[in-house]
Amino acid sequence: MAPLLTFEEALREILARVRPLAPERIPLTAAARRVLAEDARTVVDLPPFPSSAMDGFAVRAVDTPGTLPIVARIAAGKPAPRALGPGEAMEISTGGVVPEGADAVIPIEYVVEHDNEVDIGSPVESGENVRPRGGDIRAGEIVAERGSVVTPARLGALAAAGILQVRCARRPRAAVLPTGTELRRPGEILGAGEIYEANGLILSAQLEAAGAVVELMPTVGDDETAHRDALEHALGADVVVTSGGVSVGPHDLVRRVEAELGVEEVFWRVSVKPGKPIAFGIRERTLVFGLPGNPVSALVGFVLFVEPAIRALQGVPEPLPRFDRGRLAGARRRNPERDELLRARLRRSEDGPLLEPLSGQESHMIARSAGADALVLVPRGEGELADGASVEYLRLD
Ligand code: AMP
Ligand code: MG
Repeated sequence: MAPLLTFEEALREILARVRPLAPERIPLTAAARRVLAEDARTVVDLPPFPSSAMDGFAVRAVDTPGTLPIVARIAAGKPAPRALGPGEAMEISTGGVVPEGADAVIPIEYVVEHDNEVDIGSPVESGENVRPRGGDIRAGEIVAERGSVVTPARLGALAAAGILQVRCARRPRAAVLPTGTELRRPGEILGAGEIYEANGLILSAQLEAAGAVVELMPTVGDDETAHRDALEHALGADVVVTSGGVSVGPHDLVRRVEAELGVEEVFWRVSVKPGKPIAFGIRERTLVFGLPGNPVSALVGFVLFVEPAIRALQGVPEPLPRFDRGRLAGARRRNPERDELLRARLRRSEDGPLLEPLSGQESHMIARSAGADALVLVPRGEGELADGASVEYLRLD
């Protein structure tokens, strides 16, 4: 039998088959967390006019120090009625238009005002407390680049730049289908041999966080007809994520039924722990992920394989999982065949992030995984990683 793909190879196979979704124009008010499909350019200079950084008095620096008559009072949003002449001061608010003729603002804290005059005790430098027009960005320049995610900061920049609509990749539509006769919904009474269904919620939450629009389908039992009907519906989405039923047991039906429905399998099984029996296939443009049923395997399989695909569908230029570096707390034996991802707590220490693997790393132990902040990569190989070894990790938030 051919050796199993490594997770890097498997990821390459997946990403090679992703075709980014067509963009759509959406109002900026709906753009949070979306991925820009084109550069967004500001329509105005920012600031659009020379504006005051302080509440104070607009003056000519050469007139300071000195006592100057206050010839106007400028509130934000209302420019001065005329230019400032030599030897004059105008009261100005933060964000007010610095009048023609003025080149500095002296903060209110540093002056004494009396009888419509202002005493300025020390000299001000030209340009002080004046935000020049276009000092942040100039009209026509790029505020946010194609492929970037619209974070709150970008949303603010786009709004400040006067942008009403942006072109973003369409959100991928994802269908989640948990499989397993033994699964019950929370709230139902567990019969003999039954457990509560967890993967549907795990995967839906992960998909939504990655930007997908999710349809969580009702769980199907290990029955061919039920699988066929549910999968036929699910295959109408851009991405199908099933859980369970991809191992070698007689009740593992997902791959067989998908093949009957025209899904071309690209790979099955990857040398990674947990998550080895993952299956990936494609039907037309639909990406089809079969994650193992153990909840930890589903969680990890999603982070490694599905999330990058969701990002790539939205046109993110670097969709691969983003590993950070930290140090491992405690020694760890390596697995000779499989890359291992340990659930760990992430602590800040003097020499950087410290990763403490949780006790109980088996793939059914979702309760013990609940407090994990990170997945630590223990690369396959001989021997062990020493206490304090430098490791790569993925954040789980
Ligand atoms: P499977 O991959 O179908 O062989 O399932 C592997 C293990 O995961 C079995 O113990 C299942 O009962 C359990 N399992 C499968 N699906 C789920 C699910 N959606 N929620 C919780 N546990 C599950
Ligand atoms: Mg099963």
